[in-house]
Amino acid sequence: MRIEEEIKLDYKDVLICPKRSTLTSRKDVNISRTFKFKYSDKELDAVPVIAANMDGVGTMAMAEAFFPNRMMVALHKYYTVPQLKKFFDSIGPERSKYVFYTIGLADEDLRKLEEVLKVVKRDNIHNICIDVANGYTERFGNFVKKVRERFPNKVIMAGNVVTPEMTEQLILSGADIVKVGIGPGSTCLTRKMAGVGYPQLSAVIECADAAHGMGGHICADGGCEVPGDIAKAFGGGADFVMLGGLLSGHKECEAKIYTKNGKKFVSFYGSSSEDAMKKHNGGTSEYRANEGKTVEVIYRGPVEKTIQDILGGLRSACTYIGASQLKEVPKRTTFVRVNRQLSSYFRD
Ligand code: 5GP
Repeated sequence: MRIEEEIKLDYKDVLICPKRSTLTSRKDVNISRTFKFKYSDKELDAVPVIAANMDGVGTMAMAEAFFPNRMMVALHKYYTVPQLKKFFDSIGPERSKYVFYTIGLADEDLRKLEEVLKVVKRDNIHNICIDVANGYTERFGNFVKKVRERFPNKVIMAGNVVTPEMTEQLILSGADIVKVGIGPGSTCLTRKMAGVGYPQLSAVIECADAAHGMGGHICADGGCEVPGDIAKAFGGGADFVMLGGLLSGHKECEAKIYTKNGKKFVSFYGSSSEDAMKKHNGGTSEYRANEGKTVEVIYRGPVEKTIQDILGGLRSACTYIGASQLKEVPKRTTFVRVNRQLSSYFRD
C-alpha cells in the first residue's frame, strides 16, 4: 500500500485569479479553437464544449441546437441505424465535424458502426468516441488500437482515465483525444460505491500535461456543476470539456416531462444507473452494483439560455484573465485555493 500525500483538487477547491488585461469587451474574445490531431488529418474549428454521450444529453436535437454555436455533441449509443443515417445525411459533412459517433467495447457496437458507415453518405462521420467507465483494462487499450487500425483518419476520442501514464498509453494506442474523469459526474456513484476516483481538476492538469507532451489532446469529462467550472477545466489545460448534468432538463434532451405539484420535471439518469440498465440491458447483472443514479431535474425549456450562460461565462473568464483566445487560457491561469466554507458559498 502507498499513500499519495500531495493534495489533489476538484474544481470547487479553486478560483481563477484575475490578471491585468487590455481587452475592452467580452465580444473581443474568441472562444473557438482550431485543432490538428495526432493521427487524424481532419482539422476542426469549434467551440470545444461537448454534450456528453448520455441518454437525455447526447441527442440529435441537442446537436441541432449546438450547431449555430459550433459546439459539439457525442451522440448516445441508442439511436437506430435508420435514425443515424437520416441524421448524418441531413447534417452533411460540414456539421458532422461537430458530432461524435459513440461506441462502447461491445462487438455489436463496432458492427453497428460499420453498418452505419455503409449507409450514410461518404465521410459524413468524422469523429468516434469510445466510451467505457474504466479505461484501464488491457482489453480497452487493444480495442482502441483495433479501431484506429480500422479507421486511420477518423478523430478518435477514448476514455475514461485519470492518470498521465494511462493517458499516454491510450494516445500510443491510437486516441487523438483522451477522455479524462472517473468519479466526478453528477449522476456518478463510483466514488461512493467503489471508493475509486481522482479529484477532477488535478486529473485534468496532470493528464493534459502528459497528452500535450505527445501531441495529443484531452477532454475533461464530468464534474462541471456551474459554468465557471468549464473555464477552470480549460485553465487546467483541457482541450475539450464534456458536460452532462449542466445540459440536462432541457427540451432537446428528448426526455419525458412530468408534472409534480404544478412544476415540470424530467428524470436524468447515469449511464450505469439502475434505470439505464433496465432500459438498455434488461436489468443489472447479479455481480454488479449500480455506479450511477437517477436525479429529478426541473424542466428548463430550450437549451438556448443555458448555452448563453455557458458561453457568456467562458467569455467573461477570458476577459478577467486577459485571454483574447481560448488557447491562451491555461497560460494566463493562476488558480488560488479556497477554503471549504468559501467553496460551498460561491456555488450556491
Ligand atoms: P456531469 O457533467 O453530469 O458531471 O458528468 C457527465 C459524465 O459523467 C459523463 O460524460 C460520464 O463520463 C459520467 N457518467 C455518466 N453516467 C454515469 C454513471 O452512471 N456512472 C458513472 N460512474 N459515471 C457516469
